[in-house]
Order: sequence, then structure tokens, then C-alpha cells
Amino acid sequence: MNRRTLLKTAGLLPLADAPELIAAPNPARKRSVRFAYIGDTHITPDTKPMQAIAKCFHHAQDQADKPQFIMHGGDTIMDALAQDRDKVQKQWDAWNTIIKADNSLPIEYCIGNHDVWGFENAKNDPMYGKKWAVEQMKISGRYRSFDKNGWHFIILDSVQPTPEGKWYTGHLDPEQMDWLKQDLAKTDAKTPTLVLSHIPILSATAFYDKKNMKNGNWQIPGSWNHTDAVELIELFYQHPNVKAAMSGHMHLLDRVDYNGVAYLCNGAVSGNWWTSDTYQQTKAGYALIDLYDDGTVERTYLQY
Ligand SMILES: [Zn+2]
Repeated sequence: MNRRTLLKTAGLLPLADAPELIAAPNPARKRSVRFAYIGDTHITPDTKPMQAIAKCFHHAQDQADKPQFIMHGGDTIMDALAQDRDKVQKQWDAWNTIIKADNSLPIEYCIGNHDVWGFENAKNDPMYGKKWAVEQMKISGRYRSFDKNGWHFIILDSVQPTPEGKWYTGHLDPEQMDWLKQDLAKTDAKTPTLVLSHIPILSATAFYDKKNMKNGNWQIPGSWNHTDAVELIELFYQHPNVKAAMSGHMHLLDRVDYNGVAYLCNGAVSGNWWTSDTYQQTKAGYALIDLYDDGTVERTYLQY
């Protein structure tokens, strides 16, 4: 009797098998790190998002099994892409107020499309584009990597403006792709690695919307899923120590296991951009992520 049959016989398998349960965890594995993934907070100075985000931070920090740090998956603020300086400043001020009052954990940020200042009249402003977000997030650059507790972490910048500058698609610019290849090449092949991008590299959430079915063919927007997914999937295949690739952006929750990489799209703190607490079938929430020394990853998605 294999484990599945055993679980079925014992009535322990849920109706829809969670992929996490199909392979039995290695009993000898040890947890390397637990962190909280918080993303798509879309803060504004309004009372509702400010109170809810504060509540979310407290929920994460009050866990009995407390996360060591926070990874923010991007879209920290509601929108800078189409707003003037004053409106953008008020959103960052709201964010900094919450961080100061309600959070004591270190935060590692990823830049989201709504964090980029793309106001048309600001093209000559030194803060135009990603500079303002990099400054507010106090990060060393728009993409970077670091090591923690035996894992390697890579944070990417997914958001690239289209040539006319009015929209964006999800991919790495050539400079960043070269850097990623070099970063993976110099990382020890035994070091499990987690990649974070705002826009998913591979996600089942891209298929939720009937509007993308056109004349019998799926047409997935380049702003929903990395357009260089093929290249990234091949790159990760050459580096089997890449174990997890997390994202936000879609406000939806999924897990796609492909070629040994767990692709996790992690919902959204803001749910339906604060208009309701559910978007499609995903509730507003955040995730606790446990990384193990054998390269496995587990996610617990929580409503706060
Ligand atoms: Zn986004």
C-alpha cells in the first residue's frame, strides 16, 4: 500500500489533492527559515487600507511561530504609474507611517508596476521611473540577491516599460538577464535558491479571465506573465538548485510545480484592490513561507 492509498483508505486525503501532500516530506529535513510574504498592499492614505495593512502586519508578527522577516512582493502603493507627485508622495507617506508604527521586522522589497512613477509630465524629474520606489523601499537596487540561513534569495525587477512608455510588460531587460545568469553561475550548486518577481514567471492564474479567450485561442497579456518565461524556465533547469519562484501581481493564489521549481503566486493583502475582500476565488491575505534545508518549500496562506 503506498502513501496515497493509505491516506485515501484512512479518509485523510482532501477531495482536491493539494500538491504539497502528494510527495511525503523528508522526515530528516530541517527548516532553514520562515518569513512572511506580504504583497499587493496598494496603500492609500484612506482609513480602510491603512487599518487593514496595520492589522495584517500585527497578524504576521503575533504568530506563535514568528516569521524572521518580510518579503514584499510589490505594488506597495495603490498607484504611481498615472499619478502626479503630490498623490504619489501621500501614498508613500501613508506606507511609511504604517511601517514605523506597526512593523518591527526587516522588509525585503520587490518593485511592482504600480510602484513605478510614470507620470507623463515628470519625465525630466530625477525621481521618474523606479528611482523613487528604490529610495522609499531603501533597497540597494531594482534587482539584487542575498543569502540567509543557507538559502540564496534573488529579487527581480519584472516591470519594463513598453517603447512608447505608456504601459509595461513583464520581463528582464538584457542587463538584468546577464546579471541573473552570472548570479546563478556563482551560487554554489548545492545552495537552494528562491526567486521573487512581482509578475509571475509561470502561473495558472493567467487563465482565470474569459476575455483572454479570443477566437478559440488563449491570448495571455505580456503584463500578466513574464514574456521571457521560456528563457527563465530553461535557465532554472540548468540550475536545479532553483527551488521556488514567488510572485504577486495577479491578486490570486496558485502553486505550479514544474521541473522541480515551485512557482507560487501569493494572493494580495488588498484583495480586490480594497473594493472587496475577495478577488475571483482568492481571499485577501498574506503567506507564511517555510524553506527547508532539503530545498522544499511550504506555504500557509492566511486571512488576517
Ligand atoms: Zn502588479
